[in-house]
Amino acid sequence: MSTDKQNDTMEKLVALCKRRGFIFQSSEIYGGINGFWDYAPYGVTLRRAVEGLWWKYMVEDREDVVGLDSTIICNPMVWKASGHLDQFSDKMTDCKKCKKRYRVDQLETPGVCPDCGAKDMTEPREFNLMMKTFVGPVFDDEHTAYLRAETCQPIFVDFEQVRITARQKLPFGIAQTGKAFRNEINPRFFTFRSREFVQMEMEFFCRDDEAMKWYEYWRERRWSFYRDLLGFREDVLRIQHHEKLAHYAKAALDIEFAFPFGWGEIEGVHHRGTWDMSRHAEYSKKDLRYFDQEKNERFFPTVIETSCGLDRICLALLANGYREDMAQTKKEGKEEDLRISLSLPPIVAPVQVAVLPLVKKLNEKAEPLYRDLKRRFRAEYDDGGTIGKRYRRQDEIGTPFCVTMDFDSLEDQAVTVRNRDTMTQERVGLDQVANYLEARIHPAG
Ligand code: ATP
Repeated sequence: MSTDKQNDTMEKLVALCKRRGFIFQSSEIYGGINGFWDYAPYGVTLRRAVEGLWWKYMVEDREDVVGLDSTIICNPMVWKASGHLDQFSDKMTDCKKCKKRYRVDQLETPGVCPDCGAKDMTEPREFNLMMKTFVGPVFDDEHTAYLRAETCQPIFVDFEQVRITARQKLPFGIAQTGKAFRNEINPRFFTFRSREFVQMEMEFFCRDDEAMKWYEYWRERRWSFYRDLLGFREDVLRIQHHEKLAHYAKAALDIEFAFPFGWGEIEGVHHRGTWDMSRHAEYSKKDLRYFDQEKNERFFPTVIETSCGLDRICLALLANGYREDMAQTKKEGKEEDLRISLSLPPIVAPVQVAVLPLVKKLNEKAEPLYRDLKRRFRAEYDDGGTIGKRYRRQDEIGTPFCVTMDFDSLEDQAVTVRNRDTMTQERVGLDQVANYLEARIHPAG
């Protein structure tokens, strides 16, 4: 159950995201729309950086995974075959008194409204989460289509074409990132449960007798992504093995993060058997079996899936990085002041280095350094206001390094590099700044 302190942290995070330009409510001037969020300049940079890291790790650095970018709307038969049209639903219930609607499985005390306390709830009803639209000029059943509820189904549908054109043999994977839409009954916890979100999924096709080995391999790889690349401590992550499995699944687990409101899923790793490929073969009436030339046999590949939500990873990074501490200040009558900072890993920070001339007079020397650094890093230049205010702003947007040029720089040809997390300051020669930052931002090269 969430406590006031936990809610307080979420409120502060939402306020920071709005104040500094990470995430805004969608169409806010019209009162917003529940479950939809816009990524502001720093937010979109963070999201793209995380997505880029995932893509490099899952696709570009490997020889056995290729990419795909399919459409959001596809032939509705895809969703018939996948089971989404018939089964992708949550049970909902309404409070007859205050009219609020809930997902039955999220009620802590069934039959009681968590908002007004009334014990007068409607019978649970199934509610399909697929978002509907129409394709073409006629708005009828025949022209109804759906926004994809997950990015993986088109991967199964395109499997054969991808396999041939990418000249891949089993085992290999297909990865896709992109928007997914779910008409969630109760969007909540900021971007955690949205109605429009980005998924990053990879379907790994293999022989059935090797599938458990691959399932374990991918569980390890995905855990390592969070721990080693994104820098999450192991005590804020956990693995939950599913006790109840879908009838076709052999094994499934969630990777969860300790959000301020409690543990929440950021990724699922699933052994999906041959379900997806055999269903699409049945509904499309195409032979989608794989032909193994060496063994001279034809079979449906078994699928291991890794499926994560980019918005949830970004929210986890923001929540994990949020810090409040007391720092020295030059403000009148105060020695210390509250400092808010975002400890984001340098590799995904929206601004990796800020160049701050102490006064505008130093622009002539500071600007060329900024332009040079901007070619290698996400850099920002700020010469407005007191240096204290500028540091404060960079701390709040998660900038790991601030490079300050002062009058001494004109003499010693060096600058001060301030580290956000340790608050240490080092004097670094102008010709060494780029290498100094490189070693700390991209340590693996
Ligand atoms: P949940 O149980 O939280 O509804 P799920 O088990 O339905 O999630 P999957 O279908 O396995 O989720 O989707 C894979 C990933 O997509 C999740 O781990 C999550 O990171 C992300 N995701 C799913 N639904 C949402 C949503 N409504 N908003 C944001 N991200 C989502």
